[in-house]
Amino acid sequence: MKASKTSSARSSRAKAPATNGTTASIELPPWVREPKRLLINGKWVDAASGETFATLDPSTGETLCHVPAGDKQDIDKAVAAARAAFESGPWRTMTSSERGRAIWRLADLLEQHIDEFATLESLDNGKPRAVARVADVPLAIDLFRYMAGWATKLHGSTFPISVPYAPGARFFSYTQREPIGVVGQIIPWNFPLLMAAWKLGPALATGCTVVLKPAEQTPLSALRLGELIQQAGIPDGVVNIVTGLGETAGAALAGHPGVDKIAFTGSTEVGKLIVKAAAHDLKKVSLELGGKSPNIILPDADLETAIPGAASAIFFNHGQCCCAGSRLYVHTKHFDTVVEGVAAAAKKIKVGPGMSADTEMGPLVSEEQLNRVMGLLKSGQAEGAKPLAGGARHGKSGYFVQPTILVNTQPGMRVMEEEIFGPVVCAVPYTDEQEVIQAANNNIYGLAAAVWTSNLSKAHQIASAIRAGTVWVNCYNIFDAALPFGGYKQSGWGREMGAEALELYTETKSVCIRL
Ligand code: NAP
Ligand code: MG
Repeated sequence: MKASKTSSARSSRAKAPATNGTTASIELPPWVREPKRLLINGKWVDAASGETFATLDPSTGETLCHVPAGDKQDIDKAVAAARAAFESGPWRTMTSSERGRAIWRLADLLEQHIDEFATLESLDNGKPRAVARVADVPLAIDLFRYMAGWATKLHGSTFPISVPYAPGARFFSYTQREPIGVVGQIIPWNFPLLMAAWKLGPALATGCTVVLKPAEQTPLSALRLGELIQQAGIPDGVVNIVTGLGETAGAALAGHPGVDKIAFTGSTEVGKLIVKAAAHDLKKVSLELGGKSPNIILPDADLETAIPGAASAIFFNHGQCCCAGSRLYVHTKHFDTVVEGVAAAAKKIKVGPGMSADTEMGPLVSEEQLNRVMGLLKSGQAEGAKPLAGGARHGKSGYFVQPTILVNTQPGMRVMEEEIFGPVVCAVPYTDEQEVIQAANNNIYGLAAAVWTSNLSKAHQIASAIRAGTVWVNCYNIFDAALPFGGYKQSGWGREMGAEALELYTETKSVCIRL
């Protein structure tokens, strides 16, 4: 997308097709109509270039509002502010208890604005508002509360040491954990607020300072969160928010010499660019990337839970989940029953604008994603895959895709190998357990997997054999702030959430004192 000069004619109403097929206007929250600025050093400022870009309602393609197109100049300023806040601001001298309380206040403020954030997520991303209200926003609140508690618990250890070349000498040795410094955080559009929380929570708990770049498609909730960050009393410069494009603002941040660590969530392709950009000064890097997660139904599974579970594993968030259960392996004994069940579930899903109360699945986030998913569907069908449900675009306006289940897929087809990031599952029959484990692992990704079985031993054996960062058993898409999440293989480096995330935001210092 290309940035353009600010248009004075900002759209104040977005048109969205109503569920009966007519077009209704949605009254936008007043905040959406206010001018948007970057948050740098506690001040709301325009991009240095004066450029902006539009953020769209994906159910119509119409403009919601414009946000600043920050670029290298703005990133330079934001990094300088984060550096000053890290080196000499009150954040540095605050007690860990005060820091934890500030993060907790942010969670409380988010909770007070839960409805507003659900609306922003729905408008900007397209997801059903009702889903954002019960999943995205509460998970973000929980994450901040969980991380607030960690602020006071980041301690080191003491060590009895025996130094062979210093006979008779005595030492007192300990470690302490220190914040890594200035962190650049680049996030995607599939869970805009939650991804901001996953990134900001551990950075704030450990005492780091941040420059956050939201995705160009979904900048709104991060900007609104910036206002709450200020209200929570988090000092100026600790969190800087620069909206902008990946190729300009994102690349400037990833390669910036003033940044100590980059935390990225997005495509594996861009993840590799981040690593290259960070390599010249060996910044620390953590990456949460793509997936092609296997979902395995064993012959002894309870189909009453496995069938809706398999449907929800792929159709939740319109398939725009890095951990979407996009390869469904079903024992031949149940293959027909399961694929018919998932196809029936797909056909029943109410597709519509996220802001309509009865919508169960909204549009994809952008025209680019629509074209990408449609291209993959076309390629799959050209190679012989057969849709039992869906397989086409839904409607003529907005970026909707029909919930789709493909059969007759073969290893090597693009739909079987690539992350589709849309509501498309490939169902594959199997007979042998070792064969299915091998097939499940035979992919460049290793983010998540699931197994459905009533045999406890099998559940543990398969969980252990699967090379993925998360394995769900008889459930899918269960997330908690305490549970680490991240990938094996090309699904990433490091973990989000849990105590593991904090490791990636701290350095360990060993101190050794001769007594
Ligand atoms: P993407 O390009 O990887 O975007 C993720 C973030 O990286 C965005 O903030 C993006 O900015 C930024 N970015 C892009 N190029 C950059 C660069 N050269 N240097 C630094 N930052 C850069 O993902 P996408 O294009 O939105 O989606 C493409 C595919 O990625 C999807 O189809 C899906 O397969 C995958 N994806 C995965 C996840 C996940 O959670 N793992 C999330 C989203 C997408 P812009 O917003 O300006 O692009
Ligand atoms: Mg992109």
